[in-house]
Amino acid sequence: MPRQYPVEKTRNIGIIAHIDAGKTTVTERVLFYTGISHKIGEVHEGTAIMDWMEQERERGITITAAATTCFWTPRDLERKKANEHRINIIDTPGHIDFTAEVQRSLRVLDGAVVIFDGVAGVEPQSETVWHQADKFEVPRICFINKLDRMGASFEKSLQSILEKLSPNAVAVQIPIGAEENFEGVIDLLTQKAIKFDGDFGQNIVEEEIPKNLKEQAEEWREKLVEKIAAEDEKLLEKYLAQKEISVDELRDVLRSATVDYKIIPVFCGSALKNKGVQLLLDGVVDFLPSPIDLPPVKGTDPKTGQEIERKAVDSEPFSALVFKTASDPYVGTLNYFRVYSGFLQKGSYLLNPTTGEKERIGRILRMHAAEREEVEELFAGDIAATLGLKKTITGHTLCDLNSPIVLEKISFPEPVISIRIEPKTRADQEKMGMALKKLAEEDPTFKVKSDLETGETIISGMGELHLEIINDRMRREFKVSVAVGRPQVAYKETIKGESFAEGKYIKQTGGRGQYGHVFLRLKPKERGDGFEFTNEIKGGTIPQEFIPAVKKGVIEAMERGVVAGYPMVDIEAILYDGSYHDVDSSEIAFKIAASMALQTASKRAKPVLLEPIMRLEVTIPSEFFGDTIGDLATRRGKIEETKDRLNLKVIDAKVPLAQMFGYATSLRSMTEGRGTFTMEFDKYEEVPQNIAQEIIEGKRR
Ligand code: GDP
Repeated sequence: MPRQYPVEKTRNIGIIAHIDAGKTTVTERVLFYTGISHKIGEVHEGTAIMDWMEQERERGITITAAATTCFWTPRDLERKKANEHRINIIDTPGHIDFTAEVQRSLRVLDGAVVIFDGVAGVEPQSETVWHQADKFEVPRICFINKLDRMGASFEKSLQSILEKLSPNAVAVQIPIGAEENFEGVIDLLTQKAIKFDGDFGQNIVEEEIPKNLKEQAEEWREKLVEKIAAEDEKLLEKYLAQKEISVDELRDVLRSATVDYKIIPVFCGSALKNKGVQLLLDGVVDFLPSPIDLPPVKGTDPKTGQEIERKAVDSEPFSALVFKTASDPYVGTLNYFRVYSGFLQKGSYLLNPTTGEKERIGRILRMHAAEREEVEELFAGDIAATLGLKKTITGHTLCDLNSPIVLEKISFPEPVISIRIEPKTRADQEKMGMALKKLAEEDPTFKVKSDLETGETIISGMGELHLEIINDRMRREFKVSVAVGRPQVAYKETIKGESFAEGKYIKQTGGRGQYGHVFLRLKPKERGDGFEFTNEIKGGTIPQEFIPAVKKGVIEAMERGVVAGYPMVDIEAILYDGSYHDVDSSEIAFKIAASMALQTASKRAKPVLLEPIMRLEVTIPSEFFGDTIGDLATRRGKIEETKDRLNLKVIDAKVPLAQMFGYATSLRSMTEGRGTFTMEFDKYEEVPQNIAQEIIEGKRR
């Protein structure tokens, strides 16, 4: 079957916002309006979808799957080309503790709608998410929401976007009326006033611009046209010659400038009062890129290591990236993936180049607001889910059996905090392992391991809140109760110098002997570069078959560093010499010899402790500035920058995670509840000597 929606009529977008800006409300309205315009089956009349959403809400289920598909036809004014588009909405989390979630969703979406609270304007967290989106160069449009609220101001909010986020933002609409008198918007491109009638604002009424706003609308339009014209030579010529420029011309250039992330169109409205959301949807279609508008996806050939590209066309070999693994109580483990190239038929086999396994795609599901749809095939640019994959998890590539490619990985930060947990009863014990395994599959920044000495289970994640939520999910979704210990910083160890050592494991008395003998050289690597194993053995000094065992021995020994038993990172281990015995040598003997050599060599290579350093942004009323700075100093904080934001002070600092437990409570009491902060992992750094000593002693005790 040919594809129903050409790739140019596909949009893969995310809706991103600070908590409380109205992401849920906007998403609900989007699903509602798209549901009216595109009837999926007969039951899904508009009101039915609204009812369904209300029920979902009462049951406390989130209304968005990892990706939800809907359809939208922009208003057909003078636009003759307009017709139905498929919009896939990729869920993005609101909280900063879930950087990994934000990153992986940003990785697979092509464009974003950023929502702002029209009263608060740009909030600290909107800045963090904005900068993350910058890293992935995600084209975006903005929506200033809540214009019906007391104290809302379109102009001030736009100003804060211009000052704090990007000078390239430009209004494509302005509001008619404000606060309780907010009535609708003026579309600056078409120069029409637009209002929203009916119980759900579903009827769009187009009018002439009210007289009292004519002049203002002219001024705003002038700014918009100037900004657009500057992006295109032909248009600029016309503009300078004061010739007529058509709406279509403006729209086309604005589209390509938005796709290139040179202009950010700003929309406005009130999702709660059903005003403006349909025009925002028009904006998604008009200005955000389709998969084919963006550069081809990059990957590597797993055999040759060479870089290869795949275009978003159906005739290329199939490639897709799994961006979310979720356990669904009804159907089991769902893997959401984005197709970057080629097409896929239900029942066919794909390769997972990471595990090397073949996977059969038995069912393909597309999630809509109120139902799941089973589909027979998928094409380049599509997003869907599948069930029953054996070993595929978040971050893995799925590709054509004959044209393997590993797509650029989503890089996840290492966990920085860990807690010991203990099942409350024997029944919990059994279920706990399963629950932890499922949760770790879903979330690559959540790790589980057991303490070799005590047998206890240790879970690690990206922050206190992250682990709290994991525990909460264990209780609610998996019905497992656990007792939790105090959060611990995930220290690591590394070396600062080079060294070498010999490891010998030889037993040749009685029974079968053992013989493993290696020489290792160690070199420090850059922070964050991880572990590398290099084999320099020549001429069979150690037979090839034992080399993997040597590497295994090194990796195992690195799990317990020589300073205080924390995992070692950022080290290159070079195997350069050794010997073997015809009869007595075995894998196990070489593994032990390698572990011994690694330990001895690390002791000689200036081993040190590393601790996670967090990037912190604190926002406080200025009267608390002195106290807050003083407090950060006692926490070993380094102030990077202080800024003024309206009548608030903003402090950017780097602080060791070890000093930040319970910071939320202490900031609250220090600032009479008026201070807020966001915190994010930055990097690992060497622990100062005196503090390292305390940690080592504490660990011994
Ligand atoms: P989220 O945390 O970003 O998902 O935000 P929600 O959609 O849950 O909205 C947060 C609060 O703001 C809720 O109480 C909403 O009813 C309210 N809200 C959302 N949009 C609007 C709006 O346009 N106007 C007003 N006055 N309130 C809104």
